[in-house]
Amino acid sequence: MPEQTRDVAIIGGGPAGLTAGLYLCRAKIDTILLEQQLTGGQAVNSPLIENYPGFPEGISGVELVERMKQQADRFGLEVKTFSKAMKLILDDQVKVISLEDGEIRARSVIVTSGRSPRKMGIPGEDTYTGRGISYCATCDAPLFKDKVVMVIGGGDAAVEEALHLARFASKVILVHRRDQLRASDYLQERAQSEPKLEFMWNSEVTEIIGDDVVKSASVFNNVTSERTEVPVSGIFFYVGNVPNTDFLVDVVELDETGYMVTDNNLESSVPGIFAAGDVRANRFKQVIVAAAEGALASAGAQKFLESVGARQAYEGGH
Ligand code: NAP
Repeated sequence: MPEQTRDVAIIGGGPAGLTAGLYLCRAKIDTILLEQQLTGGQAVNSPLIENYPGFPEGISGVELVERMKQQADRFGLEVKTFSKAMKLILDDQVKVISLEDGEIRARSVIVTSGRSPRKMGIPGEDTYTGRGISYCATCDAPLFKDKVVMVIGGGDAAVEEALHLARFASKVILVHRRDQLRASDYLQERAQSEPKLEFMWNSEVTEIIGDDVVKSASVFNNVTSERTEVPVSGIFFYVGNVPNTDFLVDVVELDETGYMVTDNNLESSVPGIFAAGDVRANRFKQVIVAAAEGALASAGAQKFLESVGARQAYEGGH
């Protein structure tokens, strides 16, 4: 086996990847973490995380993942940023990750590449992205101080971000395609008591209109068939997510929506390749779940290394 083969490569630097890296480095396993942009993952888009234990007042997503990064740093995790995995190739006992600027070889791989916001593909969406259209209220809300903004979607993310936007905007219009939110009861209660939040039910945005920047959205009511042009300065899309698994097609088993299928030890259909966090076909997409799965996948990778004779027997419990 060539000298440069690493024990474990982690693909993705959100809570799952950083936790897997922490566990592996603390166990003194040669590990590299590859991240397509900067570490943090989607958690950095959450202004306030209130359901991660240990932070009774809540903590911002940015601060939580920064603390995770510092903790992994302390044990020497090597992180290679701006390194997008283009393809995963199986080469006998070694997994080869193709990057734009080379490749990384590893005996075991933990995929923690998460998800990306789904695009709706409506006219104007691409044209006005960054010019009024955003997928991150946490990042861009202050740009819309005292302006009218629209949020599209009815899930937890849409409602949570609409509430965050209400702290800045003069009015937030939440457009949802049904007459009932998908978001949790707790968030729905908060939404109902936010005076700046208005709802457009049974409504679909069909086009974004503007000049240099967004000026309005064309909204179709799917019950009355009425079309309305609603003047807005900003539009935030929260219509779900798609898994970041393009590089795994025809390599490991994916479910019908592209999420990685694993066994109870988080091992994929290929021995030695594990999945943790939002990229995995689990139903509960939460930071705490991602972190826990990162720890579990790290134990799986250690056992795998042991099984191929690359490590001393895994003792667990560290
Ligand atoms: P989600 O739960 O899948 O909700 C997506 C929303 O977008 C749904 O309301 C859906 O409508 C709507 N939608 C989908 N495609 C659409 C289209 N083409 N046009 C218009 N509307 C469309 O996604 P999410 O809110 O991003 O949440 C993802 C996961 O993360 C969930 O498991 C969620 O619980 C979790 N999360 C949790 C928290 C928290 O705990 N505080 C915060 C954020 C996210 P329908 O309802 O009609 O399907």
